[in-house]
Amino acid sequence: MTAPFPLFLTLTGQTVLIVGGGELALRKARLVAGQAGTDGRGARLVVVAPDVQPDLAALAQEVRHRPFADSDLDGVTLVFAAGEDDVEAARVAALARARGLLVNVPDRPALSSFIMPAIIDRAPVTVAISTGGASPVLARRLRARLEAALEPGLGRLAFFLDGFRTAVRAVKTDETARRRFWERVIDGPIARRFLAGDEAGAHEQLVKALNASGEGAIEGGSVALVGAGPGDPDLLTLRALRVLQDADVVVHDKLVDERILDYVRRDARRIYVGKSKSCHTLSQGEINALLVREAQAGHRVVRLKGGDPFIFGRGGEEMVVLRAAGIPVELVPGITAAVGCAAATGIPLTHRGLAQGITVITAHGAGPAGEGAEPPLDWPALARLDHTLAIYMGLSKAGLVAERLIAAGKAPGTPAALVENGTRPDQVLAVGTLAQLGELAVRHALKGPALILVGEVVSLADPAQIAADVFAQTTPTSGRFGDTTPGAGFKAAV
Ligand code: SAH
Repeated sequence: MTAPFPLFLTLTGQTVLIVGGGELALRKARLVAGQAGTDGRGARLVVVAPDVQPDLAALAQEVRHRPFADSDLDGVTLVFAAGEDDVEAARVAALARARGLLVNVPDRPALSSFIMPAIIDRAPVTVAISTGGASPVLARRLRARLEAALEPGLGRLAFFLDGFRTAVRAVKTDETARRRFWERVIDGPIARRFLAGDEAGAHEQLVKALNASGEGAIEGGSVALVGAGPGDPDLLTLRALRVLQDADVVVHDKLVDERILDYVRRDARRIYVGKSKSCHTLSQGEINALLVREAQAGHRVVRLKGGDPFIFGRGGEEMVVLRAAGIPVELVPGITAAVGCAAATGIPLTHRGLAQGITVITAHGAGPAGEGAEPPLDWPALARLDHTLAIYMGLSKAGLVAERLIAAGKAPGTPAALVENGTRPDQVLAVGTLAQLGELAVRHALKGPALILVGEVVSLADPAQIAADVFAQTTPTSGRFGDTTPGAGFKAAV
């Protein structure tokens, strides 16, 4: 098999003929017209067919409502024989080739002088993929992979960089220096800032870098506060993945799954700062200082946290410290434990008729007076709410939490669950009633991390996920258990 020659064709002012008026023709016309919201490709599109779809007609500069005639090929650069009739398409293609025109018959490479690649359109950036017709499906899969790896803002970044070309050429007259400058802009904090949405900041920084003399001027460090999600690496966001692959230094927690660290750029330095409830490897103050120090040394620092940085992750404190130090901070959200655990156990956090909302709290301050750093929780308010309660850091206090909620008026028979290692291969889901919460933790020998969910929605939990052998002899007293279809799973598992 010979390989086709890749090229990008300039169609400005050229005539493109599409023979055919149906779906196939429409698809080709869209490609010729280019992406909506851009300047398009500048081609003059002529469509010839007895019947032409309105969508297609709308894209064309000229529509000829009649069968194809040889004279339609006059003055044409590119031809798509995209009619429904194969024999007619072959005839059109043969005539076009005889005139030396470029012609494509959709899905008929043998009749075509050019084939359409699978494309990723980030106009003006275009990636075209071809397997030379060997496997169009492979080409499409490759496109899907690349789609995920290429930032959606790439096109805008190209326009942004284009806007500085004249200025950069004037200031950096030496070609090598100019190339280095652009490389540092594209690989460094300026492009990252732009792609993260801070276009004004990127502009300002680029102007500053251009005005500053010396090679190091562009290099300022930065910190990204990144949510790693609850454990399953599949739950990382695409942005988190990009930032991890771009990092010089990764500062991570105990809660971050090993498998996620596999995504960190190979030669990045990893710093473990431990943080579990009782044994802090570094204090929060020391972590803050570490982040500032690493960024000031010019590194791209990723502060990787379990779940979401802004939910019981102390991301806010780190952000404030970094901002005060004048270090650019990028915030990358993650799937928080409540959301991840809910999906992994089939417990909807809100549900019509069962929960009007979700309240996210930490039991960290729930201990006896003086133990917790936070002010005591407002138990009566929590008991009164018709909400699902998602309680973080509550495993060692599960019994106490239940006791307080019941004392404040929450029904002891309210369904309750503990999810340990949610979304991970070793996930454990223990379900019972609020009154049983403390005992559940003990019976399942849960060690954490674990999330407590309290509310009627727990009755919808996926029966297949519920850990067996819990309270084998105990029948829940609440009438709510096992008496409705959603709750039927409890009967089987309890
Ligand atoms: N920022 C994190 C929460 C950190 S606090 C987030 O948004 O998820 C730590 C607590 O989160 C743990 O005590 C536990 O209650 C909860 N948690 C984190 N990951 C979990 C997981 N995979 N399964 C269950 N609970 C988890």
